[in-house]
Amino acid sequence: MKTLSAMVAMLLLLTTQLLSQQLPHNETMCNLISTGKREYLRILPPPAIQQKLKALALAREAAQKSGNKTAMAAYNPFSINFIGDWSAEAKNALQYACDIWSFIIDLPLSIKVDAHWVVKDDPNILASCRATDFVQLGTYRYPISLAEAMKDSNMNGVTAEMSMDANSTATWYFGTDGNCGTSQTDFVSVAMHEICHGLGFSGSMNWAAGGTAYGDADYENPPRIYDYYARTIGADVPLISLPRHGSDLAYAITHGVNFYSVDESIGRMVDGMEYGSAQLYTPTTWAQGSSYSHLDEVFNDTKADLMTYAIGHDHVIHDPGNLIRGMMVDMGWKTFGSTTCNAFTGIVAPGTDPWGLRFLPGYQGYWPTTLHFVAPASGTASWQITH
Ligand SMILES: [Zn+2]
Repeated sequence: MKTLSAMVAMLLLLTTQLLSQQLPHNETMCNLISTGKREYLRILPPPAIQQKLKALALAREAAQKSGNKTAMAAYNPFSINFIGDWSAEAKNALQYACDIWSFIIDLPLSIKVDAHWVVKDDPNILASCRATDFVQLGTYRYPISLAEAMKDSNMNGVTAEMSMDANSTATWYFGTDGNCGTSQTDFVSVAMHEICHGLGFSGSMNWAAGGTAYGDADYENPPRIYDYYARTIGADVPLISLPRHGSDLAYAITHGVNFYSVDESIGRMVDGMEYGSAQLYTPTTWAQGSSYSHLDEVFNDTKADLMTYAIGHDHVIHDPGNLIRGMMVDMGWKTFGSTTCNAFTGIVAPGTDPWGLRFLPGYQGYWPTTLHFVAPASGTASWQITH
């Protein structure tokens, strides 16, 4: 009997070890840390988005009053599955963060979010989030939400595209107005950070025993699209060109990495500066949940601070800024930007998609800058946008 128990125990141990090796390491690519200090900052959404948020809130309220489920669904680009003991105000704050993102990037399909209200083992960890899957399209793997947007197709049925945890023990500020208290953590800011990870702000480089590697579960998968843009600072070597397992890669991810915009964004002006690259957070000691999938500390107190690895009290960022927008565009998202449009008309050739902009049902009247239009297969079509 003892021998059998020992064998079972050994088998369980082996199984556990095997499973732990196979678990996807994106599980812990973000553990957003509280600095525990007051770090006052106020960055609210641009006025145009604030207007849209107000109009959206009114439209959603009207749809709820009318009980029209189809209309209500149209006002929820994110479909949130609240798991655990979420309060009404916490739910509202997460919805608000999702709404802001829905006015920043083009979401042709509803993104399903599993949102867990949990007690984190480490009280300093505020939240975490991951894409539930990465789908290979061509050479690279894309977060499932982005792959679906690119293909305009729901690829995973009722399964969520992202899964996030929020720590129930943090001292949260749930208001959406940015009036966070001096010893509180702004929930909307944290939620915006985590959603950004779920949308793909996440690489698969990982510090692994026996040699650093990428490719998630078995370290042999194709790199993620985020990895494609990662280059060493100075020598400017693409990380995915280094040997997949070994000391060169280990050195690289602990000694400076740029998210280098190799094509689309070269020359794009971002916040008054030409955006060619963005330094990632790569401390000399690998920090699981912080390293590589966050922006460097040089971005503190800028809009790009949204994607640094830690957040202090009284620190409010409700807009990702143009640098993060640019990175999302590099990876494949279409953003709405903050430009306004004037009334105009045009004629497009058959089968073309002139702008890739998208008009979602139910947004008429207060989302005038976003039109998705694909011309019919034959003939021509005229179109008009009025501002
Ligand atoms: Zn993070």
